[in-house]
Amino acid sequence: MAIKRFSPTVGRHRRSAGTRNTTRKPTEKFQAYAAPKKGGKLEPFEFSPGPLRDEQVEIEISHCGLCHSDISMIDNEWDESSYPLVPGHEVVGKVIAAGDRTQNVRVGQHVGLGWYSASCLHCRQCLSGDQHLCAKPEQTLINRHGGFANRIRCHWVWAIPLPEKIEAAKAGPLFCAGVTVFNPIMLAGVKPTDRVGVIGIGGLGHLAVQFLNKWGCEVYAFTSTDSKHDEARDLGAHHIVNTCSATSMKRIEGSLDFIISTVYGELDWPAVLKTLGPKGRLHFVGVVPDPIEFEVFDLIDEQKCMSGSPVGSPATTMTMLDFCARHGIAPVTESFPMSRVNDAIKRLRAGKARYRIVLENDF
Ligand SMILES: [Zn+2]
Ligand SMILES: [Zn+2]
Repeated sequence: MAIKRFSPTVGRHRRSAGTRNTTRKPTEKFQAYAAPKKGGKLEPFEFSPGPLRDEQVEIEISHCGLCHSDISMIDNEWDESSYPLVPGHEVVGKVIAAGDRTQNVRVGQHVGLGWYSASCLHCRQCLSGDQHLCAKPEQTLINRHGGFANRIRCHWVWAIPLPEKIEAAKAGPLFCAGVTVFNPIMLAGVKPTDRVGVIGIGGLGHLAVQFLNKWGCEVYAFTSTDSKHDEARDLGAHHIVNTCSATSMKRIEGSLDFIISTVYGELDWPAVLKTLGPKGRLHFVGVVPDPIEFEVFDLIDEQKCMSGSPVGSPATTMTMLDFCARHGIAPVTESFPMSRVNDAIKRLRAGKARYRIVLENDF
């Protein structure tokens, strides 16, 4: 396998033998933090990634977001984890090596990588531009190692170029949380004249509020946490709806065109459905633990619908990044050095993160 387009060696991690602009091989050993067993604390871990494949790029990681899904994987909640498990799927860094069949990204370019690290590119979903719905995708931290590391590799399609205006230190969460809430706005054809609701003002919701505000919508933030009211307004919410108050919910009955739900807990879903007007849509991106009960007639009567979606395609991710760059949208983040990853996980488990945690590579 040939390696093309080598980068100059700049920076303390990549200086070799006092040379500059020399050819550079893919890294032989990656440094990472891994959970040795289900629910275990992360420990330093070194592994050999093997040869760089022709269509892969290697990324020198500068930052990686910490997402609730990383904790689900550490805890093997979805029965898909294998140990040692290196979490991390909100990667930002610089391409430092590229196989000879790569396109679109060049060595030296800043990129981001999210939940998927490859897709087949020949199934109907891939050919339709919905690579995130590929039947045989490669997931960044399933059966391979994720982004709590100094290096990572992925298929070039999933290494998304980072626009210059976007700050690398804050960008990580856009590649998971960001695209997860941006994709439904495109899917549902939300209009700037729409009145929209965001349920849950957390890692996902705080980005949804910013996107929908800049989209031009009148935004209703649904939250049960009083302390988040002012923050939700600062993020762009025009109204606050207290999900614990029947009066607050009743006041907006029949008025919304679109609602995105980012919560993981229980809610009075029939009451939420009632806040939609005719042809309204309730869209789920947060995984509600138990089945939802509702009357089908409530959908039929006013032609409402319920839907859901996972992350988004590479093209949607690029569109989202352009939108963020144009409107100055960024995740609200807390920063931890990667060596303090266990403290960061503890904070996220305790529900204290405002609103996303980003780990900075300090290997
Ligand atoms: Zn995630
Ligand atoms: Zn496919």
